[in-house]
Amino acid sequence: MSINASGWKPNIGDGQGDHERPSFTGNRALMLEEPLIFEIGDTERTGVDLADAPAANAVDRLGALLRSAPIGLPGLTEPETVRHYTRLSRQNYAIDLGLFPLGSCTMKHNPRLNEKMARLPGFADLHPLTPIEQCQGALALIHLVGEWLKALTNMPAIAMSPKAGAHGELCGLLAIRAAHEARERAGGAARRTVLVPESAHGTNPATAAFCGYAVESIPATGDGRVDLAALKAKLGPDIAAVMITNPNTCGLFERDMIAIADAVHAAGAYLYCDGANFNAIVGRVRPGDLGIDAMHINLHKTFSTPHGGGGPGAGPVVFSQALAPFAPLPFVEKQGDRFVLVEEETAQAEHHGDAFGRMVAFHGQMGMFVRAAAYMLSHGADGLRQVAEDAVLAANYVLRSLEDVLEAPFAASGPCMHEALFSDEGLADGFSTLDIAKALIDEGFHPMTMYFPLVVHGAMLIEPTETESRATLDQFIGALRSVAERGKAGDPTLQQAPIHAPRRRLDETLAARKPVLVWREQPDAAVAAE
Ligand SMILES: *Cc1c(COP(=O)(O)O)cnc(C)c1O
Repeated sequence: MSINASGWKPNIGDGQGDHERPSFTGNRALMLEEPLIFEIGDTERTGVDLADAPAANAVDRLGALLRSAPIGLPGLTEPETVRHYTRLSRQNYAIDLGLFPLGSCTMKHNPRLNEKMARLPGFADLHPLTPIEQCQGALALIHLVGEWLKALTNMPAIAMSPKAGAHGELCGLLAIRAAHEARERAGGAARRTVLVPESAHGTNPATAAFCGYAVESIPATGDGRVDLAALKAKLGPDIAAVMITNPNTCGLFERDMIAIADAVHAAGAYLYCDGANFNAIVGRVRPGDLGIDAMHINLHKTFSTPHGGGGPGAGPVVFSQALAPFAPLPFVEKQGDRFVLVEEETAQAEHHGDAFGRMVAFHGQMGMFVRAAAYMLSHGADGLRQVAEDAVLAANYVLRSLEDVLEAPFAASGPCMHEALFSDEGLADGFSTLDIAKALIDEGFHPMTMYFPLVVHGAMLIEPTETESRATLDQFIGALRSVAERGKAGDPTLQQAPIHAPRRRLDETLAARKPVLVWREQPDAAVAAE
């Protein structure tokens, strides 16, 4: 890879698209190539006019720490910088560009009203240490969202502070662990194991292990649900908790939830519910009625608020009466007309002495709370119920429209919830789910979730969400049908896909196992970094 004096590096394309005449620039029409900023920037250029550093006696003060080699940061002029990042942003796929069918992710449209509300200076500019008397409105809003979530789940207590689904799982399991430790202090035996279904999101076993528990898996039945008999057989005095996702990651409702809760409680354990899929049942099912002890809610999946690409999330956790005393601090409490933030010091002295501690320094993701409040208030109770109904309808529309071309392992057992699940069975020899996903990129769609859940071979998990129109769904279905037909017919061009994307097939295993995260000037490293 040669970089000429001006930093320009022509024809960066990987040469796989040779059926097209390569352009001088490497650009393909208005799809612009973009090298790394290190490859186009140099230390001679800058977008800012800095005064010379004062001749301080830095040498004396820094001693051996004084930098001896150039820092190697790239410099660009302001327009070059703006264009670099704008060109990169155009290579992103985003929910504002098209359907994002990722299952287990709930990538839905974020109403702009939410954004406007979150940017109100009274919320956006609030300092986390603002005196309580001066942020009553913000506390009222946190309290309102918490009350609505408690009402929607029929659970008596809530921790608003966790900052993501996985963080909420940690919060829930820490409360469960604190409850068991309290029992141990009263003479109970230690419990060391958490049961997690085979189909669980990877964060579930990871959370249990992070809390110091051994993890054992519960098998699934042939119809994609938790095997109640197998679960019961595993329950015993060593089991601290059972983590169940409902609706589960096969896109199915766990019908035996009450029987599961009864068995778990009879064994002296707690029932944790992964509520990341609440979008499918909000307004229709109250998890508190199912005997759940703790459940996180992904505000960023169910109550809009943008996520993906590292954006902020929020994972409030609702608790049963049994776990409420162990919930973390701080929390907002309404005392007469005032809202107070119950912090550790006062709490320990007055009440809530069993709280396991804190999840975060302050109160959680304020911007997410504002977005969720705007979303809830603008939908109302009937609107929130319709969200779930439309999400389930859209997923079933996808399932039934494609089950004649793609194998749908659980379709025979009835409607799905918010996700349609297909397997790779029936694709021609040598063709895989990966080929289908890559070909969808050429069709202009972000691929679905693939190879998850693990209980289905070559899984393709599709969650259209409630915010897609019938026309969009039809276009997606048409694209997936065409790609699936090519896969079944063994069309070799499918294995070349994507041919229209900025990059073709990368060595994803190598990238994951040996990530090159630091750019160095050696040509080999520059190639690997791509
Ligand atoms: C998204 C998701 C999680 C994790 O949520 P994060 O906010 O990404 O940490 C956990 N479980 C399930 C089923 C999910 O879909």
